[in-house]
Amino acid sequence: MSDILRRDRVFDFMVAREVEDLDLSHGTVLYMEDVSVSFDGFKAINGLNFYVDTGELRCVIGPNGAGKTTMMDIITGKTRPDTGSCWFGQRLNLLQMDEPEIAQAGIGRKFQKPTVFEHHSVFENLELAMAGPKTVWSTLTARLTPEEKGQIEEVLEVIGLQDESGRRAGSLSHGQKQWLEIGMLLMQDPLLLLVDEPAAGMTHQEMDRTVALLKSLAGKHSVVVVEHDMDFVRSLESRVTVLHQGGVLAEGSMDQVQNDPRVIEVYLGGADAEG
Ligand code: ADP
Ligand code: MG
Repeated sequence: MSDILRRDRVFDFMVAREVEDLDLSHGTVLYMEDVSVSFDGFKAINGLNFYVDTGELRCVIGPNGAGKTTMMDIITGKTRPDTGSCWFGQRLNLLQMDEPEIAQAGIGRKFQKPTVFEHHSVFENLELAMAGPKTVWSTLTARLTPEEKGQIEEVLEVIGLQDESGRRAGSLSHGQKQWLEIGMLLMQDPLLLLVDEPAAGMTHQEMDRTVALLKSLAGKHSVVVVEHDMDFVRSLESRVTVLHQGGVLAEGSMDQVQNDPRVIEVYLGGADAEG
């Protein structure tokens, strides 16, 4: 790895391990090419090509059944495609890795329903997320190094919960729990974050704060957001990929895709089209 490459803006935030393991020198963190998967003969993903730039924030929208969740399942190793290729950077073949290996390599996924440790404090939740496979008891009784404490405080600030640090996670609002869960993912310092429907069930004020949070993560992380709420997607001001019948129907700015006749047809054509 040359010094010139290391000094490049894109690599500022990356440790050498990641640059060397993944080879992000092309500026692309995720490659999915000609990916297909069938369930009982039905092609849920059909010739999908999907690329995410290093540090990019991307929204994925599409009608119900378009394949959004299946796409995330493929990226995280939960579902194996029948054909195609999926690479994390230039070197890691996701199709040869299992779910824990993919998570370990730096792909974090946030599911729709928050799964925080309700009986532990916000701070302890982040501490537990940092620990990985250690037991709860050994984690919470071990002394934190100043670096670890600093890391938790940094994440508390990013997710805007610094004043709630000592609060029991179970007593947080729905929105705050979502932010805490994003914070728990951040404790693993993922390169790529997949976030499924973060705005669901949120108040408008919480949505605004979530938009600000996701935008603040871009640059340091690559973030792929699946979301149905169009106002929310528009506020993110990111590139938008429209999935339909398991493939990419359109890609571009929110304005571009919303004015695309094929997208309009898909959204107006189906009564159950949702986002
Ligand atoms: P989206 O998240 O865009 O709503 P999904 O990825 O959940 O769409 O689903 C795409 C299609 O694949 C749907 O028609 C769904 O019913 C089907 N599907 C998804 N997972 C499975 C599965 N495990 N078995 C059978 N069919 C599935
Ligand atoms: Mg889905």
